[in-house]
This record gives sequence, C-alpha cells and structure tokens, in this order.
Amino acid sequence: MKRRFKFTGIIAVFVALMTVFSACNKNPSETPEPSGQGGYDIEITSQTPSDTKTDSSSTTSKYSSEDKLIALTFDDGPHSSTTGRILDILEENNSVATFFVVGYNIERGSEIIRRATGMGCEIGNHSDGHKNLTKCTDDVLREQVDEPNKKIEKITGSSPTLFRVPGGAYKGVESDIGMPIIQWSIDTEDWKFKDAAHPDRTAEEREADLKSISDRVVAEAKNGDIILMHDIYNFTADLTDLIVKGLVEQGFKLVTVSEMFDAFGVELKDGTVYRKAENPKEITTLASGHYTVRSKYDTVNVRVEPSTESEIVTEIPNGTAVTVESAVEKWAFISFEAGSGWISSAFLAKQ
Ligand code: ZN
Repeated sequence: MKRRFKFTGIIAVFVALMTVFSACNKNPSETPEPSGQGGYDIEITSQTPSDTKTDSSSTTSKYSSEDKLIALTFDDGPHSSTTGRILDILEENNSVATFFVVGYNIERGSEIIRRATGMGCEIGNHSDGHKNLTKCTDDVLREQVDEPNKKIEKITGSSPTLFRVPGGAYKGVESDIGMPIIQWSIDTEDWKFKDAAHPDRTAEEREADLKSISDRVVAEAKNGDIILMHDIYNFTADLTDLIVKGLVEQGFKLVTVSEMFDAFGVELKDGTVYRKAENPKEITTLASGHYTVRSKYDTVNVRVEPSTESEIVTEIPNGTAVTVESAVEKWAFISFEAGSGWISSAFLAKQ
C-alpha cells in the first residue's frame, strides 16, 4: 500500500514537470524573431544628427547612459536548480539581471525570487500560463497579465513593472497588456543548444557550442542591449558563466532592464515595445506628410514592422516620394506608389 502511494506520487511529480517543460519548450519555437541585420536601415546611428548630446543629466539614476550597460534577461523560470546557479554566477561577478517569471513557477520558486530581489535583480512578468496572448480572449489576457503581478507582489512586496510576452508575440495586444513590453536585441538562442536537444553531443562539442555562443554575444554587445536567455536549462547556466565573465571583462556593467532605461533617461510606457535602451534625444519622431527618401545608398529597406529585425517588404530607390502616415520613435510608416511599410526616419527628408 505504502509503496503504491509512493509510486503514484512520483508519477504525479513527473507529469507536473513534463507539463511545465512542454509549455516552456513551446515558447522558443515560436519565439525567434529573425535577427538578420543585412539591410541599410541599421545605419541609423551614423545618420543621427551629431549635435544631440548624450543625456547623463539624470541625477536619480545609479548609472549614466555613458556607462557600458547591458541587461541580461532570463525567461520561463524560476527553476529549482538552474536559476540558483545563475544567481550564484551573477553574485560572484557583482552583477544583476532581470528574470521574467511564469505564473505557474512563482509560488514554488518564491525562495529563489526572494533571493534574486535581495541581490538587486528585477522580477518581470512573463504571463501566468505562457500562452500566446495574441490568441487569447480579453478576459484570459487580463488574467494572464494580472495573476503573476499579484503572485509576485505577495512575495516581494511590489508588483512588476515590466512584461515580456510569451513567444515574443504581441502584435495587436500591446495596449491590452497595459505594461511596458520588453523584447530583446541579442538572442543567445540558448534553447536550440540545450542538452536535451543534443543527447549525442560530446563534452568537447558542448564546450565548443558554449564558447561560440558566448563569443558571438560578447562581440555583438553594445551599450543598451537586452540579451535573451532561459533560466531553465543547465546549458544556459553554463553559458551565463561565460557571457557574464566576457561582458565584465569588456567593461560592461550588468544591470536590470529598469536600471538601464533609467540611466538612458527613457521613461517606459505601458503598451509600448522596447528592444534596447537608446537615448531619447537621438530619436526623431516624424510628423505625417510628404517626404523624399534620402540616403547614401541606392536603395533603402521597407519593413513589415518598425524594427531592423523585421521582415523586408521591399527596397525603394533613393529619391522616391513617400507619404508618412504615422511614426513610432525613429520609424515611420510610409505609403508610396508601389506599397507601404516601415522605414527608418533617418532616411526621410521633408519635401
Ligand atoms: Zn517564454
């Protein structure tokens, strides 16, 4: 009788774990936003007027935008062992990070959450059940956003101020979410390299994978970047060790997402999507009207969404007459004879 009970208990735990992991694994497969950067719209910074001085006047910020700041972000936890290892690594390197936790992990991860906040880490909301919010009814979406906030507040005493959408899917529900939506500018793609996905990998191959990812991330990293990882894999904990050490060696300060935007003087707005911290003075939001494409290149990319990560609709030649319908920060939605889409404002001159 006793043995039978024990066996049933083990099965129950196993089923619970499988449910969690299948939910988590669903995320990355729908997550990746293509991070190809082959277009001409990434030259924005070089086209930005140089008379805009970096804003470091904020006296309340712990850091300034002239520091080399990076925000590591970890999704889908907390996990009973890997999140703890990641916290150890951060602690050893005097660093902090932001953890976007999922509702079903919050209560059993309360000790880890308490430890993270005690260290100065930030806890963000990653929905209650890791559902695709663009496919939820209004009521379910509300619950997905509100429940984790309540659960986290019970543990830390304060409600999160940042939201990360499951699977990176936010199109059309930004304002319904009602919190700042934090995406990322560097994707480690850690989920592709997790041990479960490579059962036959040798120890040497694993080391090589860890090194090549961390080398790429450290080489790509720029002030204001947000790095995406998942604190539910052993592989990610090992990767974190290399990335943290690499970034610190390059002179980066690893801060929370809120600390980083604060240092840049950016006030995070509800329902707005952020991929990295940028100086607001360097962002020119265009007024609607008639413009001409002006670039040192022959053609300029027009994209599906206001991001260099977004798919290219078409390329339009320098000198094309366009109409700006609306603008979001440094991107403008334009229409022209052959179509419409988003273009970097830096390539538009008033007619
Ligand atoms: Zn996720």
